[in-house]
Amino acid sequence: AEEFLRKMDKLAAIGHLAAGVAHEIRNPVTSIKGFVQLLKQDQGKQEYFDIMLAEFKQLENILREFVSLTQQRPGYFEFVDIRSIIHEVLDSMQEKVVRHILRLNVAASSELKLWCDPGQIRQLFIHLLSNAVEAMPDGGTVWIEVLQEGEDEVKIRIVDEGCGMSEQRLKRLGEPFYSTKEKGTGLGLMISYKIIQYHHGYVHFSSEPHKGTTVEVVFPINNKVRSST
Ligand code: ADP
Repeated sequence: AEEFLRKMDKLAAIGHLAAGVAHEIRNPVTSIKGFVQLLKQDQGKQEYFDIMLAEFKQLENILREFVSLTQQRPGYFEFVDIRSIIHEVLDSMQEKVVRHILRLNVAASSELKLWCDPGQIRQLFIHLLSNAVEAMPDGGTVWIEVLQEGEDEVKIRIVDEGCGMSEQRLKRLGEPFYSTKEKGTGLGLMISYKIIQYHHGYVHFSSEPHKGTTVEVVFPINNKVRSST
């Protein structure tokens, strides 16, 4: 009986995961479909192709993420300036945020090259920034700060002025499938935690209901030695 229950749990988890995949790929697919329809009606503009390409890229990212969630497969690591990744993410999000302002403040003077899988780090910031934006349905500002911490750490701080979280909710963060959103999957933070762990970093949330949330992610700048073990 125990074995059976374990199997049912597993099945339920797979069902949730499938729902999550469907949820995350729905937006880019809907967008691509819309632009193909416009192009078919001969209302095409060259820039539609760029948007569609960006959406396909997003789909690729999502699919790669879900693969990495289920398989313990080594990622593709390289040295990348963390700031350029965040700039890319902000550019890709600018089209989606309507009443929101995304402010980036880079306090580090020199380049911050991080030994990382850039696709995963991109996905991480898409999740964290989406959460910040979704916490402010009526609009608001998200502050993103990139700070050098000592010799060999980089801290990325994301501050929103959204709905915030109670002590109780804070404790449940990262729990698979924990979501307070109508269409949420509760997978975003689970994936985020996994990515941070994979890069030997750590994350800290602080929050106050109705005031906002601060997320701090810290990465070792050069974890090459540890990640190749
Ligand atoms: P989802 O976004 O699909 O709900 P996540 O795993 O990304 O899944 O987030 C889980 C839950 O954590 C959210 O439903 C929300 O309640 C809470 N949360 C995460 N980030 C924030 C934030 N910046 N402000 C308020 N609540 C947040």
